Amino acid sequence: MFADTKLLPPDPILGLTKLFQDDPRPDKIDLGVGVYRDINGTTPIMKAVAQAEANVTAKQTTKAYTPTDGAPGFGPAILDLIFGKDSETLSAGRAAAVQTPGGCGALRLAGELANSQGAASLTLGEPTWPNHVPLLSAAGLKLNSIPYYDRDANAVDFEAFKAGVSKLGPKDVLLLHGCCHNPTGADLSTEQIDEIATMAAAQGFLPLVDTAYHGFSKDLDADAYMVRKFSADLPEVLITYSCSKNFGLYRERTGALIYVGPNADNALAVKSHATSLARRNYSIPPAHGGAIVAEILSDAALTALWREELSEMAKRVQGNRRLLARTAENFGLHNQLSFIAEQAGMFSLLPLTDDQLRAMRDEHGVYIVGGGRINLCGVNENNVEHLVRSFKNATAP
Ligand code: PMP
Repeated sequence: MFADTKLLPPDPILGLTKLFQDDPRPDKIDLGVGVYRDINGTTPIMKAVAQAEANVTAKQTTKAYTPTDGAPGFGPAILDLIFGKDSETLSAGRAAAVQTPGGCGALRLAGELANSQGAASLTLGEPTWPNHVPLLSAAGLKLNSIPYYDRDANAVDFEAFKAGVSKLGPKDVLLLHGCCHNPTGADLSTEQIDEIATMAAAQGFLPLVDTAYHGFSKDLDADAYMVRKFSADLPEVLITYSCSKNFGLYRERTGALIYVGPNADNALAVKSHATSLARRNYSIPPAHGGAIVAEILSDAALTALWREELSEMAKRVQGNRRLLARTAENFGLHNQLSFIAEQAGMFSLLPLTDDQLRAMRDEHGVYIVGGGRINLCGVNENNVEHLVRSFKNATAP
């Protein structure tokens, strides 16, 4: 069966990391891979996570299966976090959560759930996180693209986006990024979110809000605006949640699929379909990361420590944005790069052609993934001038 199987090409981002590692230049800069990194270039274990993990291990008495919706306490804790403890959506019992293997597992399950209930299509704004496409099309959905970002203006093209959204009807799903858009860093404003909510209410399409960077833009409440607004105004919302970035639990594969329905009975019915679809795929999610999150969020001191650590990470990335924009201004590049300071999350798109990206890498040792996405974590006081000088050089007429 496999005798003629051909080797697939390597993953382009991992290939870039290898090239970076093999580059002997001391002033090389890695802006590629999409994880949080501190000033030393490492992705640390958060202190709250290490403490919670020790507690979980000490308290654990069995490795027997968890319930189908994941580690006990995880779902309710995530619901409180994203909706806020006083949420009417929660008090009405309209929301249900299922733990999943990371945000990727949640996206695949969301796609399968929508497909199983007769979704006609799923619409994505362009560009989006490249993995959205295989994850959601593997779930059996027909994908459509509409414009989201204007690369000349370095900003959301809201009129073009709305024109695409205006064509959607009751059997359509619209994927939105909850905050910290990947790869552009350009989020919808609260007014624009309100407009999309009004369109969804009038046209009947189902929003699917991918939330992979909760807490990395402003704070945990402000970053949940889209989820809370849609849930308050619309009868049905799907939300995919990742604990990879905000809890630093990447390899523990911890996430959730959340459904908000018109009433509690409907929420439970849809949840039963989600767990049934998971059952025929990976059965139940890995418990460890979910238990850590539940432990943090059920302990006031650990929650306070985690919130502080998360806010420090977010502030560091925002500080790097301002540093890059300020340095660009000193190099006379205000018009080209000032937008970086206005955007949110770990990523932005540098306005570079493929040839310019290659020049950045080959001539200056600055490693950026195809399309121009940079991870702001890789920028610091020591390398920012080299980065901006390289940009100026590579884009010189
Ligand atoms: N959605 C987006 C937009 C992401 O950037 C990511 C992670 N890079 C995910 C979902 C999924 O993350 P994970 O499966 O690692 O939790």
